[in-house]
Amino acid sequence: MARIVMKFGGTSMAGTERIRRVARIVQRQQAAGHQVAVVVSAMAGETDRLVTFCREANALYDPAEYDVVVAAGEQITSGLLAMHLQALGCKARSWLGWQLPVHTDTAHAKARIQDIASDALLASMARGEIAVIPGFQGLTDDNRITTLGRGGSDTSAVAVAAAIKADRCDIYTDVDGVYTTDPRIVAKARKLKQVTYEEMLELASVGSKVLQTRSVSLAMKEGVRVQVLSSFIDDDAPPADTIPGTMIVSEDELIGELEGLQMERQLITGIAADKNEAKITLTRVPDRPGVVAMIFGPLAAASINVDMIIQNISKDKGETDVTFTVPRADLARSLAMLEGRKGELGFNRLISDAKVAKISVVGVGMRSHAGVAATMFKALADRGINILAITTSEIKVSVLIDEDETELAVRVLHTAYGLDAVDAA
Ligand code: ASP
Ligand code: MG
Repeated sequence: MARIVMKFGGTSMAGTERIRRVARIVQRQQAAGHQVAVVVSAMAGETDRLVTFCREANALYDPAEYDVVVAAGEQITSGLLAMHLQALGCKARSWLGWQLPVHTDTAHAKARIQDIASDALLASMARGEIAVIPGFQGLTDDNRITTLGRGGSDTSAVAVAAAIKADRCDIYTDVDGVYTTDPRIVAKARKLKQVTYEEMLELASVGSKVLQTRSVSLAMKEGVRVQVLSSFIDDDAPPADTIPGTMIVSEDELIGELEGLQMERQLITGIAADKNEAKITLTRVPDRPGVVAMIFGPLAAASINVDMIIQNISKDKGETDVTFTVPRADLARSLAMLEGRKGELGFNRLISDAKVAKISVVGVGMRSHAGVAATMFKALADRGINILAITTSEIKVSVLIDEDETELAVRVLHTAYGLDAVDAA
């Protein structure tokens, strides 16, 4: 017997038929002999609808009341799922965020979970009851309802799994796992059997939106084993215990299994494309100490997240060009701020380009192997793709390119790193 947390997202919970299918999946998991807790999202589109009502009520709405409103979507689906389970003859009950309770801080609309009381939950599960828990919601010390930020049900599920020391947290969603890259871009993308927490974090931060990033950080911190798998399956689909999806695991677990299987893992695990950045260049900035601080200080103070930075080698005139990227949504604000400081910063021209894409290759394998970046640059050069900026971390190399070349670049790199599936078209 194992203790399993199952989480179902909004598309899986959208309407009676889908909730009925979820109930059957849950019933099967319990019938396999496990203790089961289920965390659910609101029906797809419901949270957006509730947010709109708040905006219409008052442009400057009280975040504490916003949480009361938007937490309601998950209350509905948790009650409904409990009913569907009961209709199948299972013992089931809902546990709302305030009933467990899920303790959070007081940062309304983006609260962080502090702890989850698990005694009553565990006792109920031990009696054979399926616990149905609405994701996304919590309670402050002074008994106000909170929500965890959009997409927060993933984090709820991982937090519940940590609290009850679950053997596994299965996140059922509308894709059947984590892929080497977006299968809509590359037909030969492969589903990964395993990915490490760190790889998943890097892939999530560069645009692969399978899980809320915070849930992955929490899983890593708490050592929760997470599986991503599809909820759109037939009754005779392989059971979750056979790991049909992608397991997110620690690097130690990954290496241990690889040794057992005597298997070589690809150097690169995944490739991600992100079109949410814009490039800014300041030309002929005086090359003296403190200038870069003068550029980036005010941007940081305005909470604008600078990502890639290049400072060119100084020309003899004692001037340099500085290029960097900011989120596209912050481009106008950044330009206005820099233009306003032109005198102080002493640059010549301010050039910007929003039509750029950041392509990242990610893999823990690059820690111990040289030449990953070189392969990337060569593969792109062979196809005439120009690199505008580069950044690296221990397990990631990112380049900035023209947005129009995104798909080509991803495809070329997928092949260059040997990630193409052999059996696919
Ligand atoms: N229902 C919430 C949202 O749409 C939380 C979630 O589904 O994860 O953001
Ligand atoms: Mg989600």
